[in-house]
Amino acid sequence: MQPTALPVPTSRLQRCQDNLQSTEAADECLPAQNPTESFWLNTPNANPLAKEGSTGDLPAVADVCIIGSGITGVSVAYHLATQAQQEQPLKVIILEARDFCSGATGRNGGHLTPNAFIDFCSLKSRFGQEEALKALDLESHTANGILEFISSQNIEQAVDLVAGGHITMFITEDEFLRAQEDYQAAREAGVDLSSVDWLNKEEMFSTYGVPYPGVKFGGHNLWPVKLVTHMYHFAKSKLPLSLHTSTPVNSISSNGGDSPHRWKVHTSRGSVSCSYVVHAINAYASHLLPRLRGSSGIVPTRGQIVAVRASVPLHQFGGKSSWDANDGFEYWFPRPVGSTSELPLFILGGGREVETHFEHGETDDSKCNEAVGKVLRGFLPTLHPDKFESGREPVMEWTGIMGFTSSRDPFVGPVGESHNSGSSDEMNYKGHFIAAGYSGHGMPRAFACAEVIATMIIADSRGQQWNAPNWLPQHYLTKPT
Ligand SMILES: Cc1cc2nc3c(=O)[nH]c(=O)nc-3n(C[C@H](O)[C@H](O)[C@H](O)COP(=O)(O)OP(=O)(O)OC[C@H]3O[C@@H](n4cnc5c(N)ncnc54)[C@H](O)[C@@H]3O)c2cc1C
Repeated sequence: MQPTALPVPTSRLQRCQDNLQSTEAADECLPAQNPTESFWLNTPNANPLAKEGSTGDLPAVADVCIIGSGITGVSVAYHLATQAQQEQPLKVIILEARDFCSGATGRNGGHLTPNAFIDFCSLKSRFGQEEALKALDLESHTANGILEFISSQNIEQAVDLVAGGHITMFITEDEFLRAQEDYQAAREAGVDLSSVDWLNKEEMFSTYGVPYPGVKFGGHNLWPVKLVTHMYHFAKSKLPLSLHTSTPVNSISSNGGDSPHRWKVHTSRGSVSCSYVVHAINAYASHLLPRLRGSSGIVPTRGQIVAVRASVPLHQFGGKSSWDANDGFEYWFPRPVGSTSELPLFILGGGREVETHFEHGETDDSKCNEAVGKVLRGFLPTLHPDKFESGREPVMEWTGIMGFTSSRDPFVGPVGESHNSGSSDEMNYKGHFIAAGYSGHGMPRAFACAEVIATMIIADSRGQQWNAPNWLPQHYLTKPT
C-alpha cells in the first residue's frame, strides 16, 4: 500500500497562479484550422451538426448574434428559447469559426462536477462569505439545470450520463489539510455537506486500490458535444434559430445608433446585422475584444487529454466515479462499458504543470505537447500498476484551449462597463454581452452564466429592468448590480 511517486510535479498551484498573472498577452487569434482530433468530436456520428450551415448565404439580419457554438453559446440560445414569447420570439443566429462545438467544450475532460466546498477559504478571503456561498450555489444551479434538461428530454443514455460521484485524491499532506480547512469553513457557513464522504488511505486502498486519502462528493460525467447538440435542437424547436459553422467572425462594426440593428458582424462569408452580440468564444475573446488581452483579461491556456484503455474490467476499479488529484491538475474517469468484461477507456487530462509556463498563452490546439503527453502516459499505470499496461499508447490524444482569468472566475454581463475596462478602447459596446473565462472549470458554470446573459438580453429587449438571481456571485458580473 506504499504509494509509488506519481510522475507529476506536486505543489505547483501557487507557481501556476503567479505565472498566469505574469503571462504576456498572447496574440489575438482565431482558433487553429486543423485541430487535433478529440474522442468526443471524432468518434463516428458523435457530432452530426459539425458542418451545419457551413455553405450558402448567411441571413442578413438577426436580433441576437451569438459568436461561438460551445456550451456557453448554445446555452444562451437554450435559455432564450425557454423564455421566448410565442408571439415575438427573438431571431437568433450562432456563428462558429470551425465545426460545431469544436472548442474547449468538444475537447474537455467530460466532468460535470459542481464544487462542493474546495477552495471555500480562498473564495471567502477574496470575496467574502456571501460571495463564496453564491459561487457554490451557481455551480449546483448549473448542474441541476443540466440534469433536469437531460431528464426532461429522456437523453441520459444519449449523452452517456454517469452519476458516479466525484473523488478528490490528495497526493500531498498540504492539499489534504487545505481541503479540511475548506470543509470546516464551508460547514460553519451553513453549506449542506451531507453528501461529502472523507476516506482515509486504507479505505481508499480497499475500495479503489489507490494509496492516498480522498474525499467523495456528488458529480457526473457525460459526453459534452452530445449534450450541447441536444440543447441546440431544443432551442431550434422553440426559436427562429440558425447555426453557421466554418464562419469565423473577423470584426464587428456599428450600423449607427439609430438603426434597429445596431451592429454589423463581419465574417469571411459575409455580414449579419443584429441588435445584440454575445461573445461566447471563451479563450479567443480578445480577438474581438482587445481589452481582454493579457493577465487582467482572459489568458488562453492549452489543456491536453489522453484516452487510455485499461487492462482489467471496470468493476476492478471500485466504481464509475470521476477523479481529480494534485490540486486539480490531473482529472480522469472511466467511460461507460457495454458489458462487464469490456476493458474501460479512461479519459485523463492534465500534465501541464510539468511546463514552467503551465501552457499559459498557448492558443494552438492543432498540436500536443510531448512533455505533457509523457506525464499523461505515465500517470495511470503508476497509480494502478496492476490495471494499466505500462508503455501502452493512448487510443487518442488531443488538446483544447481554456480561457483563464486571474481570479479563476468568469466575466459575465455587458461588455464595456466592466471591472476590466480602463483601456483606451472607446467603442461603445451597447448590446454586447460576454460570458467567458471559466478557467478550466466551465461545465458546472457556463450554463448558468449563459442564463444570466439570456435574461439580460430579454429584459433589455422588453425595456424591463434585469434583476440578478440569488445564486449569482456579484463578482462574476462585469457590471455589479
Ligand atoms: C483540455 C480541457 C479539459 C477540460 N476539462 C474540463 C472538465 O472536465 N470539466 C469542466 O468543467 N471544464 C473543463 N474544461 C473547461 C470547459 O471545457 C470550458 O470551460 C467550456 O467548455 C467553455 O465553453 P465555451 O462555450 O465558453 O467555450 P468553447 O467551448 O471554447 O467555445 C467557443 C467557440 O467559439 C469558437 N470561436 C472562437 N473564436 C471565434 C470567432 N472569432 N468567430 C466564430 N467562432 C469563434 C470556437 O471555435 C469554439 O467552438 C476543459 C477544457 C479543456 C480545453
